[in-house]
Amino acid sequence: MTRIAIVGGGPAGISLAYFLKGTKIDATVYESLDNVGLKPCAWGLMKGIENYIPIPKESIISEIKGFKIYLDGKLLYDVRKRENLGYIIDKPKFLRILGEQVDLQLKSKVQEVNRKEKDEEKNIIKINDKEEEFDKVIYANGHYSLSKDYTIPAIQYITDYKIDPEIVEMYFFSDLLGYGWIFPEENGSKIGIGGYATVDFLKEKLKKILTGNTKKFEGARVTDYGIIEDRLENGNYIGEALGTVYAVTGEGIRPSIISSKIMADSILEGKDFSKEFKKSNLYFSMQVHAKIIKSSKGKNSIKGLERVLLKANPDLVLKFAMGDFTKLDLLKLFGSMII
Ligand SMILES: Cc1cc2nc3c(=O)[nH]c(=O)nc-3n(C[C@H](O)[C@H](O)[C@H](O)COP(=O)(O)OP(=O)(O)OC[C@H]3O[C@@H](n4cnc5c(N)ncnc54)[C@H](O)[C@@H]3O)c2cc1C
Repeated sequence: MTRIAIVGGGPAGISLAYFLKGTKIDATVYESLDNVGLKPCAWGLMKGIENYIPIPKESIISEIKGFKIYLDGKLLYDVRKRENLGYIIDKPKFLRILGEQVDLQLKSKVQEVNRKEKDEEKNIIKINDKEEEFDKVIYANGHYSLSKDYTIPAIQYITDYKIDPEIVEMYFFSDLLGYGWIFPEENGSKIGIGGYATVDFLKEKLKKILTGNTKKFEGARVTDYGIIEDRLENGNYIGEALGTVYAVTGEGIRPSIISSKIMADSILEGKDFSKEFKKSNLYFSMQVHAKIIKSSKGKNSIKGLERVLLKANPDLVLKFAMGDFTKLDLLKLFGSMII
């Protein structure tokens, strides 16, 4: 049996172990914390993911059927669909249920060791200070493994403010490359914001949409760089540690799980992960998102995105947001901005 260590028990790490379960691979997930799903997150999971992994019914809080988009406080879109666009999930419960089906070791902090013996690279890691050797080590340790050059801050308040459980709200501001959100949850909502700004600036902006009694305030950084090419070449990274977060929307759960599926298939079929990943639609759509953010950053303006928000067909905006677009869709949306 090939022994694989997976570092990190987030959506990427746990789903990779899930995809490898019952195969010739013996995979163990090492998670440093005493539970899964503790990292701050708004728990929105977009549709399409069911084609990769089952979403246990008990972990679904609500189905998303529509969205509202605001620019500088003005409602631009109020779209409600018949079909399901995604879910609000109880992410810790979702990960716990999957985690019960795989070999998951909690309270297991991993340190990279990597040692060469007789010119041979050894896959040695320290798990709670004890060295262990594996056939392969996969890093699924999220933004924790990245410097601030690759990530932006995101904060959120959990409040008792009740919104329609089927609707997600997104708030754009002319002076922020990023956006705010109100996502429903079981007993209220998550009201947050992330972007290229200081936490103080974000807090100030968030005051414009913050409502209800605060139950909790939390924050984390989120990768906003696109795929990190040297990590892709290295072939041992998946999920947010590889950069699989849509830069424009901040969506990271679904792409992280898809990256794990590509990794699992590559391992099982003896293929090169980096080559397989580069062939995927995920890679193409991630790079386009990243390019748009880089272009806005370069110009120090969100004018391009603003133009799209003000003029575009909502169905096209949705396709773009979901990463499900063609080159023609891009041309219609952004014109010469990115082509
Ligand atoms: C405020 C906020 C809101 C968000 N909202 C959404 C949303 O609504 N929808 C969405 O799709 N995405 C959202 N995201 C992004 C999403 O949370 C992440 O992209 C996603 O969780 C990435 O999954 P991952 O498994 O790659 O990494 P993570 O979920 O970060 O998991 C990594 C795990 O590795 C563990 N770890 C780290 N270092 C070590 C170590 N040395 N040893 C052992 N374990 C280690 C960590 O404890 C963690 O559990 C949000 C992010 C933030 C910050």
